[in-house]
Amino acid sequence: MDKIGSFINIKTQDFYFNGCSGCDGDCCNGAKGFALSPLILEDFEEVYKNFAIVFGFQDENLRAYVVLNDGKSHCRYYIDNKCSIYEQRTPACKLYPISPYFEHILVDSECPSINDKSGICLSHNGKINDAFYTKRLDNFKDKLEKTYMFYDAINDKENFEVIGNILGIDILKYIKNTDDKYLKMHLDSLN
Ligand code: SF4
Ligand code: SF4
Repeated sequence: MDKIGSFINIKTQDFYFNGCSGCDGDCCNGAKGFALSPLILEDFEEVYKNFAIVFGFQDENLRAYVVLNDGKSHCRYYIDNKCSIYEQRTPACKLYPISPYFEHILVDSECPSINDKSGICLSHNGKINDAFYTKRLDNFKDKLEKTYMFYDAINDKENFEVIGNILGIDILKYIKNTDDKYLKMHLDSLN
């Protein structure tokens, strides 16, 4: 089965998008490769009531993820070939097939709707078309650095227990007492 998740910097070429009508929700389907989506701190508030927030180690670096599915099938909100919580979908879902990383803006070239010739212009000369821009992109580098500082401060395996495994990644729950608002949202999301 073809996987999605091959990200290219928008500075390397222009991209066009043809809508989702010809796709079976590949980006919502764990069997296509997306199950855990990395979070920045501002995402916690928007996702914790509808999705589990978990932690995991990427090499030795602690990261937080929203669990979109079980790694084998579609997101539980993917119903009748569409997102049933469209306005409340995650900030990363709202941006996809765009994905920022520090100061770079990337596009998933494996999204079946992405191409370099026809459709709605998604990016031109290294700039995102306003129609695809969301507030998540504002100062993204700063927000990601602040997020990583937060993760670094709690990066100790003693703080966590393993509660499952998705696509080969151990997913973790914070087990120490805490008053931190982000960790409380993480714990609430698991209830
Ligand atoms: S964004 Fe791309 S992968 Fe997701 S449903 Fe639309 S066409 Fe499919
Ligand atoms: S929240 Fe909606 S857009 Fe996001 S993975 Fe689930 S069904 Fe797809």
